[in-house]
Amino acid sequence: MASELRPAEEVREHILATTRRVSDVVLDYTEAVGRVLSAAVVSDEDVPPFANSAMDGYAVRSTDVEAPGATLTVLDEIPAGQVAARSVGVGEAMKIMTGAPLPSGADTVVRVEDTTSSNGMVRVGSAVPKGTYVRPPGGDVTRGTTVIEGGTRLTPVHVGVLAALGLTKVTVASRPRVGVMSTGDELTPPETASPGPGMIRDSNRPMLMTMVEGAGGIGVDLGHVGDDPRRLGAVLERDTGELDVVITTGGVSMGDYDVVKALLRGSDVDFLTVAINPGKPLAYGAIEGRPFFGLPGNPVSVLVSFEQFARPALLAMQGATALLRPRITGVAGEDLHSDPVKEAFIRVRVVDPEQWVVVSTGGQSSNVLSGAGRADCFAVIPVGVASVRSGESVTLELFRASETRRVA
Ligand code: AMP
Ligand code: MG
Repeated sequence: MASELRPAEEVREHILATTRRVSDVVLDYTEAVGRVLSAAVVSDEDVPPFANSAMDGYAVRSTDVEAPGATLTVLDEIPAGQVAARSVGVGEAMKIMTGAPLPSGADTVVRVEDTTSSNGMVRVGSAVPKGTYVRPPGGDVTRGTTVIEGGTRLTPVHVGVLAALGLTKVTVASRPRVGVMSTGDELTPPETASPGPGMIRDSNRPMLMTMVEGAGGIGVDLGHVGDDPRRLGAVLERDTGELDVVITTGGVSMGDYDVVKALLRGSDVDFLTVAINPGKPLAYGAIEGRPFFGLPGNPVSVLVSFEQFARPALLAMQGATALLRPRITGVAGEDLHSDPVKEAFIRVRVVDPEQWVVVSTGGQSSNVLSGAGRADCFAVIPVGVASVRSGESVTLELFRASETRRVA
């Protein structure tokens, strides 16, 4: 790839085309949340397995309740988990609880609220159509059908779905092992009480380690190297073997000390300029056959580049079919400005969760990580657009929005 400004989408397509799928593992289903299902789960059972009642009420024959005011003789009572010992005949009803199997003869349930009962009789006030409040066998899952598509990232809901089918083992992608390294002579460990003159704490590496986990990977801490290409080279050589992906931060742009560039220029790694703000410089290629991401140094650039390029790649390596964060249309709550030659990812917060009205979280320089921490989403302004005016619609990418509504 040459060094002109490249559209982010084109860069992502290129990256995705080069990723390879990791191997499969079999896991206990309760440990598979966040993991990507390798193949479709096809049910060999019906759920529910038998016709049962959706309500507490009376199991009846529909022909008995075609007209309002039917009065029926109450036989037994069927709690959930028990099967009626007899069937429901003409003019008869059985008291039934939610989830209890429908007795033979009955085809309809009348809610207890719609009846009056006394002396072993029940009166049904109005006409009730056949099949009312009956959950048919296979009404949830029909035997032979796909219940969860392959490539789905499993959630706690899927754990419940699998439990209902008795499928307590699942085959999922293994977690890609992702080496994470930070570069820069100015960095000190986060636990440093007071960084020396000219020094700052390393915020990218711990952030990336945890972002890797969020994308289903295992973050392998390769530590920090200064701006010495030989040391960087030594660490990469030592540690790359057991990894699926390597990510570094810093040292990929135009500075005199850009260590990643100094080491890898002329290798199988391309130094790209992406039409994206922040996150313009990006190195991508292969080191010893493994995908290598050289992300920028500024922490917000790291966030955006990871989100746009590394995260989809990690998900693709796991065979996930959905690789991108959701986008919705919201409303700019103030004017938002952008450099029209680049696609902008402006960090915004939601001030009206009904209309998705957003405002900037403040300083939009790529070093202002605290603003990204206050953001609910990115406002994405495409190439060619210089501003979005207050009140106009704007595309939002939900990179973290979960709870955005406050309790009144
Ligand atoms: P670089 O691309 O290496 O020139 O870094 C760009 C900017 O990001 C500089 O201000 C660096 O100090 C800063 N930076 C680089 N790496 C980190 C890091 N791991 N944590 C926090 N800031 C960083
Ligand atoms: Mg640097």
